[in-house]
Amino acid sequence: MKTRFLTTIAALTLAAGTARAQYSDIPPKESPMKMKPEMTEIWEPEVKVVTPGKNAGNAPSDAIVLFDGKNLDQWVSKKDPKKPAPWKIVDNDYIEVVPRSGDIQTKMKFGDCQLHIEWSAPDVVEGVSQGRGNSGVFLQDRYEIQILDSYNNRTYANGQAGSIYKDHPPLVNVTRGPLEWNTYDIIYRAPRFKPDGRLDAPATVTVIHNGVVVQNNSTINGLTLYIGLHNYPEAHGEDVISLQDHGNKTQFRNIWIRKL
Ligand code: MG
Repeated sequence: MKTRFLTTIAALTLAAGTARAQYSDIPPKESPMKMKPEMTEIWEPEVKVVTPGKNAGNAPSDAIVLFDGKNLDQWVSKKDPKKPAPWKIVDNDYIEVVPRSGDIQTKMKFGDCQLHIEWSAPDVVEGVSQGRGNSGVFLQDRYEIQILDSYNNRTYANGQAGSIYKDHPPLVNVTRGPLEWNTYDIIYRAPRFKPDGRLDAPATVTVIHNGVVVQNNSTINGLTLYIGLHNYPEAHGEDVISLQDHGNKTQFRNIWIRKL
């Protein structure tokens, strides 16, 4: 037993040594040249200036505004992308899902991005579990960040608000009540594919829900499926962002995006 314990310690020490060697935290015995402060300064190209939004949640100057209360010009019907988005604008403020009219999608396509979107569960609380205030944001039209009225509404953890649907549960449930607005700030890195179409690196996502991190650089394991294990069936490039009509009157406002 003691021998096994010591062997384990030796293996761990060796592993730690190997891990250390991967990083350049051990200075070389002799520097190849005498370093000066300016030798590690990057001056060009100069970093682009972006004017931040006035308040938290406001679009910065380089954002593409996808909805600001005025119109749905940046959106079309997913069923027929030649047709306008079939959801309604209320009070020149927010969009409300028209149940069973179908999903909507952006006209523009995106890959790596930072997306800000605000949503509210339907005003009238009805249904339970996945039937209560269900919608979703589909990144590249494939990978769903779940939207659900998860306020006092138990469901499977990887199906509640802030989850990567049927993949990763959120770290915490920070959903506000149905008459309040929720914010999602989503930082998304698209999957990478090899020239032969096989996956090179899966997509990753960080989701900040109402100012709280609920997905911390989580790996997206593939195409969102209702049944079955997720995977990446085919290579793809930039694609639209779609919002789900799950038969509930979910509301959306202040949607903007930055390409990264
Ligand atoms: Mg959904």
